[in-house]
Amino acid sequence: MRTILHLDMDAFFAAVEQHDNPEYRNKPLIIGGRKDSPRGVVSTCSYEARKYGIHSAMPLKRAVSLCPHGIFIPGRMTRYQEVSQQIFAILPEFSPLVEPLSIDEAFLDMTGCEHFYKDLYDMGMTIKKAIKIKTGLTASIGIAPNKFLAKLASDWNKPDGLTIIRPEQIDEFLLQVPLGKLWGVGDKTKQILRQNRINSMQELRQQSLDNLIKILGNSLGNHLYQLCRGIDHRQVEPEAPVKSISQEITFEKDSKDLEFLKSQLAVMAEKVGFRLRQQKLYARTVNIKVRFSDFKTITRSHTLEYTISDNDSIFNIGWNLFLQIPLAPIRLLGIGVSNLSVNQQLSLFDNTVETNKLAEVLDKINTRYQNIAITKGRTLFNKDEQ
Ligand SMILES: [Mg+2]
Repeated sequence: MRTILHLDMDAFFAAVEQHDNPEYRNKPLIIGGRKDSPRGVVSTCSYEARKYGIHSAMPLKRAVSLCPHGIFIPGRMTRYQEVSQQIFAILPEFSPLVEPLSIDEAFLDMTGCEHFYKDLYDMGMTIKKAIKIKTGLTASIGIAPNKFLAKLASDWNKPDGLTIIRPEQIDEFLLQVPLGKLWGVGDKTKQILRQNRINSMQELRQQSLDNLIKILGNSLGNHLYQLCRGIDHRQVEPEAPVKSISQEITFEKDSKDLEFLKSQLAVMAEKVGFRLRQQKLYARTVNIKVRFSDFKTITRSHTLEYTISDNDSIFNIGWNLFLQIPLAPIRLLGIGVSNLSVNQQLSLFDNTVETNKLAEVLDKINTRYQNIAITKGRTLFNKDEQ
């Protein structure tokens, strides 16, 4: 049995504003635009504004007519992102498996962490308190054996809620949930269900799998057959791993000076290699990007049988790719690696291990000095030496 926790900040943007600006507290606050903004929609509103029937995605005009004395502001995305980062920064303290769903929402797989807490209530309260101390804001939390139920639970008792669904409570809990709360059931599906006299969870459960597939098709039929029984096998998937690392530069003046371009590519290859090794990754593909004066842009890539992570290999492959491109004044040059993995695959023929060791030593020095202090001779290009 898994323990999945869903966390959702309460009226997030509005809560941040009310926290930062005491004059907004206990007042209907609507984020989305100024009162006179003609085409705006409500992004978030405070709980005080919800009492007037205002909700997200409502046209601002309508919100103004519902609550003319409300406070209407455009919002400060950078500030919300900053608070979001504070929240996400503390979540790994509770579980290594954190899946961000949006700026203010996440799943945590707490399976195996249960014994750190007195009980599930204590687990939820501990996380809620940590967020409150860090940001001054309240979160609602749901804890259940799977993602679907955990998300339903966090939504059940907002704001500042904590709802726990234990395995033996699943049936009782689900029967009170309206069909529209089922993930994947929008207006269209609800209408189809209604036409088939399915108006409640109870009635949905009475349908055979065959019948649901007949009504809704294979995928949705199967999906709803499982959901209405509280079955959801989806895993908590931590943030997508890095897929590529790249670096590019736009020159002040277009250039077709081969030595200059070579030195620039070398500097960038070192930065790419440094970041690659910092994340303990290996690459199989090197890509370059060239944009000419006329903005025509071309990319080239080369994929290897083995993995690399050293600057020299990245540079050499990139430079070879570059030399295959007809030379003309260049405006932008970039190099990157992709096809990344955490496993090293050695080449049968070269001295990858040795070059990796050299790169490691250089990285240690560079990390210590915080900037790329030591580089190999090639990048110390100086025009006067020509
Ligand atoms: Mg929220």
